[in-house]
Amino acid sequence: MSKKKLGIHTICTHVGEIKDEQFKGAISPIYMSTSYEFDNVDIKRYPRYFNTPNQEHLSKKIAALERAESAMIFGSGMAAISHMFLAFLQKGDHLVVQNTLYGGTSNFIREEFHKYGIEYTFTNSHKEADFIAAIRPNTKVIHIETPSNPLLTITDIKAIASLAKSKGIITTIDNTFASPVNQNPLDLGIDIVMHSATKYLGGHSDILAGAVAGSKDHIDRIWNVSKNLGGSLSDMTVWLLERSMKTLALRVKSQTKNAKKLAKFLNKHSDVTKVYYPGLKSHPEHELAKSQMHDFGAMISFELANGIDAMAFQKQLHLIKSSMSLAGVESTMLLPSETSHALLTQEQRDAVGISDRLIRFSVGIENYKDLKKDIEQAITKTKVAAFA
Ligand SMILES: *Cc1c(COP(=O)(O)O)cnc(C)c1O
Repeated sequence: MSKKKLGIHTICTHVGEIKDEQFKGAISPIYMSTSYEFDNVDIKRYPRYFNTPNQEHLSKKIAALERAESAMIFGSGMAAISHMFLAFLQKGDHLVVQNTLYGGTSNFIREEFHKYGIEYTFTNSHKEADFIAAIRPNTKVIHIETPSNPLLTITDIKAIASLAKSKGIITTIDNTFASPVNQNPLDLGIDIVMHSATKYLGGHSDILAGAVAGSKDHIDRIWNVSKNLGGSLSDMTVWLLERSMKTLALRVKSQTKNAKKLAKFLNKHSDVTKVYYPGLKSHPEHELAKSQMHDFGAMISFELANGIDAMAFQKQLHLIKSSMSLAGVESTMLLPSETSHALLTQEQRDAVGISDRLIRFSVGIENYKDLKKDIEQAITKTKVAAFA
């Protein structure tokens, strides 16, 4: 059976299962061995070589979801990003990177690249013209993030991929926010997709992991660096991630459905001044999002009216947790200026449009009406407290 023909729920449930030949159990067994007999000279299995049975099989599920030839899983999303960059960039090379992106990626580039002699340019915006302006003769990689964290800007994936191809530059994308359920960038010409599997792939706020997917040739190049850096994931966690991913499409579709309704609700609310969600017609890149995403995802950012303190509002929420990270089955909110982007300077935050009032909302699988009620009561209580 061709994997390409399988539906997404079937891929999530079955691709990459390990058959339990011995006991015929329903799920994949866990192989915890760090030592394997040399019964085949071609395969020397060792966890740091990313080739234990569990690692190898889960990679197949991720590859199938991203319609890739090959995939690898890592101990964290940052391990996936750093190993990916270090595989394609060396001393004297140059990286073009989107200005609006995950804070950790930006920190890695700003704090580590000079030690390796790798040059970089952050674009002025997520528009194609700014990528063109940033390219130099020694540019080897262009890295984009769309929808971006936390402002949900949409980058034209096809345009950037073909721009890079015309110049022999490799393209990488952080597909964490969309997840493979809502966006498949390899189909649009991108070379390598990465994920923080800590987010939607894991989905239950209990796993730290990362993944990359692409052609066999590209993933082999990443493997060559990764085996030296040693960022692999324990097989216990690999197994847990496999279990989580069986419900990936179910969860993300249900979260996306909630997010679409909540974005509309927030957009109409008189105490909400701004809503950033690519599914809203008012989003400047709504049409682009529609053309390159299967659906709009479950991340929303918004700003409350002047005079309604964002921090005080979060404290009034009962159901929605105010916490770090995102993409779990439970809804969470946070202030990027205090958390994910706290290490940027005020000027850097202003430059990309992250105000101190901006609230990032990771929509979970709870019932829409309960989430809506929670937000309504928290706004009302915050207003009453402010004017008392
Ligand atoms: C969380 C996150 C990362 C980093 O992943 P970790 O698993 O925390 O290392 C990278 N990109 C995006 C968009 C993220 O949200």
